[in-house]
Amino acid sequence: MAIYLTKEANRCLNCKKPMCKAACPVATEIPEIIQMFKAGETKQAGAKLFENNPMSVVCALVCNHEAQCTGHCVLGRKGEPVRFYEIERYLSNTYLDRIKVPEVEKKHKSVAVIGSGPAGITAAIILVMHGYDVTMFEERCYIGGMLHYGIPDFRLPKSILQRYQDLLVKLGVKIRPNTVIGTALKIETLFADGYSAVFVGTGVWRPKTLGIRGESLANVHFGISYLTNPSAFQLGKKVAIIGMGNVAMDVARTAMRHGAEEVTMYARSKRIAASSEEVEYAQLDGAELVFGRAVDHITPEGPVFKLSIFDEDNRVIGYEEEMEQVYADATIIAASQGPKDKLLLTTEGLEGSERGLLVVDEHMMTTVPGVFAAGDVVHGSKTVVDAVREAKIAAQGIMNYIESL
Ligand SMILES: Cc1cc2nc3c(=O)[nH]c(=O)nc-3n(C[C@H](O)[C@H](O)[C@H](O)COP(=O)(O)OP(=O)(O)OC[C@H]3O[C@@H](n4cnc5c(N)ncnc54)[C@H](O)[C@@H]3O)c2cc1C
Ligand code: SF4
Repeated sequence: MAIYLTKEANRCLNCKKPMCKAACPVATEIPEIIQMFKAGETKQAGAKLFENNPMSVVCALVCNHEAQCTGHCVLGRKGEPVRFYEIERYLSNTYLDRIKVPEVEKKHKSVAVIGSGPAGITAAIILVMHGYDVTMFEERCYIGGMLHYGIPDFRLPKSILQRYQDLLVKLGVKIRPNTVIGTALKIETLFADGYSAVFVGTGVWRPKTLGIRGESLANVHFGISYLTNPSAFQLGKKVAIIGMGNVAMDVARTAMRHGAEEVTMYARSKRIAASSEEVEYAQLDGAELVFGRAVDHITPEGPVFKLSIFDEDNRVIGYEEEMEQVYADATIIAASQGPKDKLLLTTEGLEGSERGLLVVDEHMMTTVPGVFAAGDVVHGSKTVVDAVREAKIAAQGIMNYIESL
């Protein structure tokens, strides 16, 4: 492993205008980190990665590197790109448990962080490291949001989230698990109790329905509900999955690890929304992909599809008259998620978009002064690194806001 990482680092050209960095949503100083790694300054490199991206160890595992750093490395134009994420994984993983509590002047101001996904964790770490008192409210019993309840363990080991929980506690963040804001406790309660600002990173957890007949049948499930606790479901041997995005890939691979023998994913068009790496792994695990099937309704026997008609550019231009009943023990709908509306319904002045996402300004402040938001609840279902990028802006916005009070 060490030889492989060194070889990978030695291939880097230390470009003056690094395309890898330009393609990273949090502008990771890739060539500089690689030079530090080569010089044996692993602790300093780990610290630099963490300072820029507190979720660096997670991003090294789950970012779509082909679309970002690796895919833009100049060496990839004619040969093999540098796989920086392997170096990042080593540095960040080693550094995570070595992080020291910084000696900072206490600000004696408290901030409430709602949600413990990557957005909430990032904001909490930045704020506590700047001397703010941080309390994190999490609806579920474990921290991590989709990192814990969405992304399966075989892609992102849950032990990493336990290490983040230990880190948060070590840094002084107080965590209130199993506590929902927007029911018994509301945002106004938080301000009344003395919090100076509130960060909202509540993500998107309401499965999108297809609006078709059969979605409430006993053997029909939503992808995110299944991934939250796969052991609670008895899917049977044959599983049909509606959708071909990243969530569908995780559902397929998880179902196969929980006893399903025949897993088929269906898409209306010939376009696959998931990353090529995820598709390759799902196929390697044995999942089948069937294109040109638009689900019309679902029966207890399985989904019923309309067959798409394509033009020469592979665009769907209509459907055949006849329908096709597919037989499956369980049907799982993996058609993305939208936000829940608890906070919008219970917070005066908090504005949402048509899709129920929170409206924010350039500092990530919502329409309620002192309430900031970042991550999926702002932009819809996206990625970990996008949540981090926005949470950094929001944390800075919160600090400026509190200082201006
Ligand atoms: C199956 C799946 C696979 C994915 N794979 C990848 C991947 O490979 N790479 C990648 O980059 N991204 C991936 N994503 C997307 C990524 O996980 C999300 O973009 C990211 O987690 C969003 O972070 P967040 O902090 O905004 O929200 P979340 O991670 O959703 O966290 C929100 C947290 O807020 C809590 N919460 C919600 N409402 C309340 C409330 N009212 N009070 C208190 N707590 C509340 C929730 O319980 C949750 O813990 C995947 C998503 C899914 C579903
Ligand atoms: S683009 Fe490739 S070669 Fe250039 S600095 Fe980045 S990783 Fe190194």
